[in-house]
Amino acid sequence: MNSRKIPHILLIAALGASLFYASSCSHAQEKIVEDSRFFMGTVVQIKVSIDPAKYGEVRAKDAIGRAFDEIKRIEDIYSVYKDESEISRINRLRKNERLQISDGVFNLIRKTLDYSERTGGAFDITVKPLVDLWSGVKKANKLPDEYELKRALGRVGFKSVVLDEVARTIHFKKDKMSIDLGGAAKGYASDRAVRVLEENGIDNALVNSGGDMYCLGKRTAHELWKVGVQHPRDRNRTFLEIRLKDRAIDTSGDYERYFTIDGKRYSHIIDPRTGYPIGDDVVSASVIAPDSTTADILATAMCILGEKGFDIIKKSGGIDAVLVTEKAGRLTVKMSEGIRKSYDISEEKL
Ligand code: ADP
Ligand code: MG
Repeated sequence: MNSRKIPHILLIAALGASLFYASSCSHAQEKIVEDSRFFMGTVVQIKVSIDPAKYGEVRAKDAIGRAFDEIKRIEDIYSVYKDESEISRINRLRKNERLQISDGVFNLIRKTLDYSERTGGAFDITVKPLVDLWSGVKKANKLPDEYELKRALGRVGFKSVVLDEVARTIHFKKDKMSIDLGGAAKGYASDRAVRVLEENGIDNALVNSGGDMYCLGKRTAHELWKVGVQHPRDRNRTFLEIRLKDRAIDTSGDYERYFTIDGKRYSHIIDPRTGYPIGDDVVSASVIAPDSTTADILATAMCILGEKGFDIIKKSGGIDAVLVTEKAGRLTVKMSEGIRKSYDISEEKL
């Protein structure tokens, strides 16, 4: 799993200040109960909106705790940093060696393969050999040579991942393949956490796994959850606010995680078709979708596809996107039609 670098101070503040911090909100009846924890290299924040007369605060805290337990379970399964995680076991498979996997992992991999197909290979979990190559590049501060790049590229390709629906196994058709679900796992974790909250009788909540958000129900009887999309060049500002209900939103971009060599920026998102990190013309992509896993996958894919990604957004009903690009220092925002049509938004010029 990927690790977004969050300063320790921020983590301590998030944990210390919010340990079951509860605040009353504008409408007299509802109460927001919230907590944050550090998982998957990022801060996960959960807010639930309750009517204390019907659903006690202690119960709400308990439900949030269970949602965090679920995210911890997801992290243990999907982390590529844990030797015994299910993903690490998959990554030790040799060519044509089969491994039976859990339903959760099977279904998530199947979903990512479906999106690899739809995005023409822009989103591809078999990108890991390239992710590893570029993480070595970052450490050594030296660009890879053609040979290294070709060798890593040769180990990539979603079409060489085989899922057996009956036996519930996975195998690779090539040697030395490996997968990285970092582009989808935080969204998936948000979806799972929401499911646990619902199972515990929560109807209104916001789960934010390091930017992968799901808005369940409403914030109060009279207002929806309001989500701000960060200004790409000023992390203290938002340039778009959008009100959501039963929708996920996720933003991927070059402004959070990148490194530089000789003054050039290299993103953590890699184009599996070329082997290179994406260029700097796409600044960020935000995707709104019915579930957080889809939003996470498509936000990453949009960063690679740029404007062409809108064709895929158009074809996938119920999904919208906001793309910020940069040319000669000028930022441009492009939105799919549904953003203004279907949502209540406030915009600021970039
Ligand atoms: P963030 O973690 O910043 O929200 P993303 O959701 O865009 O970022 O995921 C980026 C992560 O996805 C990378 O750190 C890497 O692990 C993985 N990744 C990079 N390129 C691709 C790709 N083309 N397809 C699928 N996953 C990718
Ligand atoms: Mg993503």
